[in-house]
Amino acid sequence: MDADHENDPESRLESVRRRIGAECARTGRSEDEVGLLAVSKGQPASLIRELAGLGHRAFGESYLDEAEGKMDELAGLDLEWHFIAPVQSNKTKTIAARFDWVQSVDRAKIIRRLNDQRPEDPGRLNVCIQVNVDAEPQKSGCRPEELPELADAVAGAPRLRLRGIMAIPAHRTDTADQLAVFERLAELYRDLKSRHPDIDTLSAGMSGDLEAAIQTGSTMVRVGTALFGPRD
Ligand SMILES: *Cc1c(COP(=O)(O)O)cnc(C)c1O
Repeated sequence: MDADHENDPESRLESVRRRIGAECARTGRSEDEVGLLAVSKGQPASLIRELAGLGHRAFGESYLDEAEGKMDELAGLDLEWHFIAPVQSNKTKTIAARFDWVQSVDRAKIIRRLNDQRPEDPGRLNVCIQVNVDAEPQKSGCRPEELPELADAVAGAPRLRLRGIMAIPAHRTDTADQLAVFERLAELYRDLKSRHPDIDTLSAGMSGDLEAAIQTGSTMVRVGTALFGPRD
């Protein structure tokens, strides 16, 4: 077996798509209900270009300077950029100008700033509210009780578009534990959707737990390691 072949971006993309497809088939979901965000933080522009050449468009980034460098280098490609790390208020202007989505919004001040600073030109900025579903003290994300008010604020902001919620649960290896936390998240999503019927995004699941996330209703898995290999 040629190890290089198994590790090339095309094989990795295929294998992640197979995992998503298999879990959709197993749980009776349609494959086009589950989007794939390629988390390219820490990875070079050349790898993004390679995945783009295979037809993949959506990329997630966590470090602003690094992301801007890659955006500049890949300016000719039609890509969709998602910001997925905690948003500092002195960074909102750049984020509002350069990204298509922000998945990590967790407080009112950031919502106001992103709305004020989103330029007219590229249309509304897609927003997910990040929820700290495990209530881990040191982690970002709002408390579940804060979700309705923050979602109303995004929905009322003319330059923003509320898409749904995002969460990064604490690492769990046991499938039953993974399912339990994703089920709580799915319930928060259903509650929010009853107030905001237009939302369409439950961003949950990463390389290690995407099956459990899909089983409980995720509409977008964010995959880094399984697509690109380990980061430095
Ligand atoms: C890094 C990161 C991921 C990808 O994690 P992997 O385990 O490498 O798939 C997903 N979501 C967020 C918010 C991240 O920061």
